[in-house]
Amino acid sequence: MIFEIDGDKLVLTAPNSFTLRIVQERFLSEISKRALPFFSTPPQIELRIEKRGAKAAAKEPSVPVKATASAGKAATPPASKAKSPNKLNPALVFDTFVTGKANQLAHAAAIQVAETPGVAYNPLFIYGGVGLGKTHLLQSIGNLVTKQNPQAKVCYIHATNYISGVVRAFQTKNFDEFKQFYNSLDLLLIDDIQFIADKPGTQQEFFYTLNSLIDTNKQVVITCDTFPKEISGIEPRLTSRFTCGLTVAIEPPGLEMRVAILLQKAATSGSPITEDVAFFIAKHVRSNIRELEGALNRIEAYARFHKRPISIELAKEALKDLLAAQNKQVSIENIQKTVADFYRIKIVDLLSKKRSRIIARPRQIAMTLARELTQLSLPEIGNAFGGRDHSTVLHACKTIESLRNADSALNADFNLLNQTLRG
Ligand code: ADP
Ligand code: MG
Repeated sequence: MIFEIDGDKLVLTAPNSFTLRIVQERFLSEISKRALPFFSTPPQIELRIEKRGAKAAAKEPSVPVKATASAGKAATPPASKAKSPNKLNPALVFDTFVTGKANQLAHAAAIQVAETPGVAYNPLFIYGGVGLGKTHLLQSIGNLVTKQNPQAKVCYIHATNYISGVVRAFQTKNFDEFKQFYNSLDLLLIDDIQFIADKPGTQQEFFYTLNSLIDTNKQVVITCDTFPKEISGIEPRLTSRFTCGLTVAIEPPGLEMRVAILLQKAATSGSPITEDVAFFIAKHVRSNIRELEGALNRIEAYARFHKRPISIELAKEALKDLLAAQNKQVSIENIQKTVADFYRIKIVDLLSKKRSRIIARPRQIAMTLARELTQLSLPEIGNAFGGRDHSTVLHACKTIESLRNADSALNADFNLLNQTLRG
């Protein structure tokens, strides 16, 4: 493993993808903690794989991408009367993408891939819940590659449009054209791959395309709403191919990051807000970034309509419905039931005195979720879990917090439960 400081970045170069994944999953938070004294602000961490035979892989210039006839334009796939656009959206660029703990790894990997397509991680697989920035990152890669190399043949496609393309190729027996198009790309960005579940024909076609592109060092970036191995209805040979490059998660943003996103969006939309207002919105809109944007738009429209400046008072009025819905809150019973179902244990066990780990861990998770998602106090939560002490609840929250940093599987479970409960 090579450690290098590059400006305000820490660059880690691993000898192979296996080491990289281990470092990414187990040691990243520790590394970033220990790196802190060397930087003035928390460093962005970039993970790279050493190129065979070249020690200074990290410094290698980007590999030139093959020139094609479609210079300067995003490539349009055949047979796709798109429902959602296949074009690159020029507004979705890295510059407007706010980074924080929840997405910094995905962001670093995306930049790396855009700067050295086909070299670093192939495929790059980005997964995470809705509205967390997957499409934004995917499009940013396409935009940066196109900017750096206008000759590159880049295709952004939503999986549903890819499926339509396959169907159309079947109907018109035009598979040659279809295959040729995809095989000739320099960069394929495919969004929401989970949609190809239970579509064996599409999967087979995609399997060939994926192999052909990867084998010729053409970059593929895939997004998905879940961890690849957890998508049901997709052939194992395909899911295992998904993970042979780099798999990175985007997680729901924490409070400070939500505030940063709001401040940035408000500033670029021309009606800046104060930090107080940003905190107010961020505290109440927690699920994802799309909803955060929605709330901000609503507040801006409300302020314009009433010709009033944006204040907490105004935000409260503009988000009245949303706040009322929130007051209904997630109930602690709902949390207990959801967690018990998820771990296939009984609710009575969750509330019992049993201390075996298969019961105790889910109990700690449920307590932590109760603390985050309800207004209940620590003693009230303890009470609801079989009359436990408030210090037990606090201990549970601390344990889960540190486990989430150390154990990526547990962290993924936690995020999934959290998003499910928030609805
Ligand atoms: P997903 O594809 O994961 O469902 P999107 O990429 O469509 O999510 O993101 C939803 C909205 O939130 C988009 O408008 C996007 O620009 C914005 N967004 C997401 N992540 C960020 C971020 N880190 N910084 C700024 N805006 C973001
Ligand atoms: Mg998306």
